[in-house]
Amino acid sequence: MKKAEHIVTQIAPRTWCISEYGLVNAFVAEGDDFAALIDATCGIGDLGETVRKITDKPVVILLTHNHFDHNGGIYRFPGAKVYMHPADADLLEKMHAMSPGGTYNGLRHFYIRTRGPVRCPDIPVQELLDLIPQPQPDPAFDWTAANHGDRVDLGGRVLQAIHTPGHTDGGICWLDSESRILFSGDTVNNSIILMRQPANGTKLIKQYHDTVEKLWAMEKDYDMLAIGHDGTLISKAIVKDYLDLTAGLLDGTIVGEYRETGFRKGDVAELGLAQLWYQCDA
Ligand SMILES: [Zn+2]
Repeated sequence: MKKAEHIVTQIAPRTWCISEYGLVNAFVAEGDDFAALIDATCGIGDLGETVRKITDKPVVILLTHNHFDHNGGIYRFPGAKVYMHPADADLLEKMHAMSPGGTYNGLRHFYIRTRGPVRCPDIPVQELLDLIPQPQPDPAFDWTAANHGDRVDLGGRVLQAIHTPGHTDGGICWLDSESRILFSGDTVNNSIILMRQPANGTKLIKQYHDTVEKLWAMEKDYDMLAIGHDGTLISKAIVKDYLDLTAGLLDGTIVGEYRETGFRKGDVAELGLAQLWYQCDA
């Protein structure tokens, strides 16, 4: 059995991936003056200590989106500036409302019990549950708006916000011209979720299609994607696969199927590297 610890991997000069026990990734991009923490995991274990081992620069947090498994460790960085797209602002309350017991720790429990056995089967679930912070820290945080095109200057290194709605309304991919990495969160990775729409409407699929079209139009600006789950760096070719997949779903040349996996269920379709849960129930 493996012991639960944050796994740090350097993926480029001044750039690291922090895997929170295989459940979710955060990334550190260090500039001359500040270090950007791109996403903040679900907040089990001490993310602050892990980041301090990587860099002694003051931390600014750049969220790819406002889901609990990406913002849950913000409490470890009191006073740090947090950048987020305003369209995701109300998600924090929605997350609370859907959580078992109405608490953030309820979400953490649920997440570990469902994702743990699939994403990190070598770590006993109880060991992960023991890392949930007690008493529960206040999950609320102050934030600064990051809109499309906004730049965050770390000193000698700038990250740019690309608004990429679909998985959430306020999704952002952060473009780093130094490493030529696009930090794509849950907007583009190996398995993307779009929530099921009333009457199986295609609004989200269209929105997501526009998003990947926008990302593919700027593919000369990046080489690799740094992703939120299930891996670290992947080829940008997957963006084109999502573009073709969403085009096919919209014009009817691709038809998916209903499927239930370990913790996911809904209508799913695949093309090349891309897997899209385009009417996802859970
Ligand atoms: Zn998400």
